[in-house]
Amino acid sequence: MDLSNRQERIIEIVKEQGPITGENIADQLSLTRATLRPDLAILTMAGYLDARPRVGYFFTGKTGSELLTEKLKKFKVGDFQSIPIVVDENVSVYDAIVNMFLEDVGTIFVTNENAKLTGILSRKDLLRASIGNQDLTSVPVHIIMTRMPNIAYCSAEDLLLDTAQTLIERQIDGVPVVEEKEDGLEVVGRLTKTNVAKALVELGRDEHL
Ligand code: ADP
Repeated sequence: MDLSNRQERIIEIVKEQGPITGENIADQLSLTRATLRPDLAILTMAGYLDARPRVGYFFTGKTGSELLTEKLKKFKVGDFQSIPIVVDENVSVYDAIVNMFLEDVGTIFVTNENAKLTGILSRKDLLRASIGNQDLTSVPVHIIMTRMPNIAYCSAEDLLLDTAQTLIERQIDGVPVVEEKEDGLEVVGRLTKTNVAKALVELGRDEHL
């Protein structure tokens, strides 16, 4: 259930000052008791507030985490994703390493001649390829990348929570955000642990309920 600004204000007031009479809440919002009545009825019915005769309204407290969960469940990947860094599968490991530094990312996505996703390169993939005597300028990234169909990906409409769970379960730093096309997956974004951390901060810093 979406609360109006006024309803959220009412909850704040009751939370801080409850038990408090309807009259008193109305005064603080410079509204009449009659104007406030529907809002108080909604909040009471929804379980945010409780009312006791001759005592007033008080905050039930039981819905705090429910509200937070509700908000978290509205977070979509698309609201938090970053710009993807993509290279062609024929570029050298050397160039991919340079790219990783220049773009300041930890994960690079690899695409074929149709610009569709074929692989993924992490820091350690590139480090591993750098150990040994091979000439990194002559090894194409498709030799060392993690390739389809083993790639975990998501779409912008997916819940951030579900994608975060994928990161944990697969023990990876990020996933490409893709759009499905006839000839494969088009990479439109990047969702990493950093994006999830940002979402958490946004949720925690939010003054609203
Ligand atoms: P690193 O190991 O460099 O810290 P990751 O934990 O993200 O980075 O990557 C671990 C391994 O998983 C790497 O071999 C990488 O290619 C692979 N990998 C990374 N992201 C994905 C993904 N979205 N789907 C499948 N494999 C991935």
